[in-house]
Amino acid sequence: MSKLIIANFKMNGTKSSIEEWFNTFSREANTSNEVIVAIPSPFLINFADNGIRVAAQNVSPYVSGAYTSQVSAEMLKDCGIEYSIIGHSESREFLKETDEDIFNKYNQLIKYSIKPVICIGEPLKIREDNLLQSFISSQLKYFEDLENELIIAYEPIWAIGSGLIPTVEDINEVSELIRGICKNVRILYGGSVNKENASNLLNNSNIDGVLVGGASLNPKEFANIAQSC
Ligand code: PEP
Repeated sequence: MSKLIIANFKMNGTKSSIEEWFNTFSREANTSNEVIVAIPSPFLINFADNGIRVAAQNVSPYVSGAYTSQVSAEMLKDCGIEYSIIGHSESREFLKETDEDIFNKYNQLIKYSIKPVICIGEPLKIREDNLLQSFISSQLKYFEDLENELIIAYEPIWAIGSGLIPTVEDINEVSELIRGICKNVRILYGGSVNKENASNLLNNSNIDGVLVGGASLNPKEFANIAQSC
């Protein structure tokens, strides 16, 4: 079965650099895996239709109204967007998003048939204190036993942008836990994935894909990752 390989550009890029990225990636990549690229919101409408699936990086939990700066699921749909990341640890931290907010975002996306990519993951202290299972279970409490197919990205916060990554055994342990809570789920791993470690992660662990931040900014490296299984 094909894997899901998602790039997260975060707050990087301009219209011309992203255009160049898509041109290079299309030239370099030769894969049957599903590739999705999460780009900054001002450019979504420019690239929604460029032959490679594009995702938003966040969405409002509200329908419409006096929520200056926010982007609704209806607006994303209107731009032709089919996927959106929600619950990224950077949004949880900097925008003070709660698990309840994230579930409200999920519901908004589902209403407009946009597929949510739900990010979860623990800070290092939680892992060190042996609280991993209860932390992950609590982040998933709203998603227990839902019938819809879920995409959950397990991104340990200490692995994001740090060059540190959990062992395949650690990832499998969390993946088992998620599969025990969510009925119908595709699990991605995210955190310091690059062209050196992608093949081992994708071929040897119990995951359905990867979410790639920093290393996705280089289209050749991301093409390499997308082809590594
Ligand atoms: C991310 O922020 O989603 C991520 C996985 O980042 P990086 O690959 O840079 O660790």
